[in-house]
Amino acid sequence: MTLIRFYIRLTVVLLFVTILPNYSFAWHDETHLAIAKAAKYYKWYNAAGADMIKIKAGFIERYNHYSNNPPGTVITPEMVLKQADLYNKTDDRGHLYGAIIASLRDYKKDRQREKYGEYHLAFCAHYVGDLSQPLHNTFYNEYNRTYHKRTDSIVNDRVLESLEKIKIYSITINSEKDLADEIARIANFSIQLGNKVENEARLITEEEAYIQIGHSASLFKAIMQYVDAISLP
Ligand SMILES: [Zn+2]
Repeated sequence: MTLIRFYIRLTVVLLFVTILPNYSFAWHDETHLAIAKAAKYYKWYNAAGADMIKIKAGFIERYNHYSNNPPGTVITPEMVLKQADLYNKTDDRGHLYGAIIASLRDYKKDRQREKYGEYHLAFCAHYVGDLSQPLHNTFYNEYNRTYHKRTDSIVNDRVLESLEKIKIYSITINSEKDLADEIARIANFSIQLGNKVENEARLITEEEAYIQIGHSASLFKAIMQYVDAISLP
């Protein structure tokens, strides 16, 4: 390798590790599983799979897990639906909201063809979990880099034994538009909380984390009812 090519490669690598968003994780595994379990998803144990696949699928998968929103962003249902076309594509801004819509479309499509669509629903369960992690919804800046991992793990060690702390509320979804409305609503809660903790230069509290993951679990429960998926008794 010539010296110039070596330096070009080095620059590219440094760019990826220092500047571009690099969400190695999301809420950690147990938190994702707890969200799916609280929603009574019968394949709750698949809800961390979308993070597993990142180490093999790389750029196909990584942009489905966050939306890099500058301060002041207000997410609209139209923005959510527009992101769906970017699913599984390279896009540094991330397209988490569209990934929820698109993975559900894939699930419905496979079921109509009488194919096994369950893995698409498991991807959807994971993305709905990421939706409530505030730092997956805010700009990837110094604060985000510093606090990201600690936020991911804030309730993780105890969450599977504390499902009663995840409060489910009723959401009704009758159309994809309703789903986009709900995704935008929760995204805006996450952005507001992300901006708040950043302004206060602090980590989210456990109480705030449980409220957030309660939004995810409530939404995923409504999604399962919308697509008539099997749920735990
Ligand atoms: Zn994720």
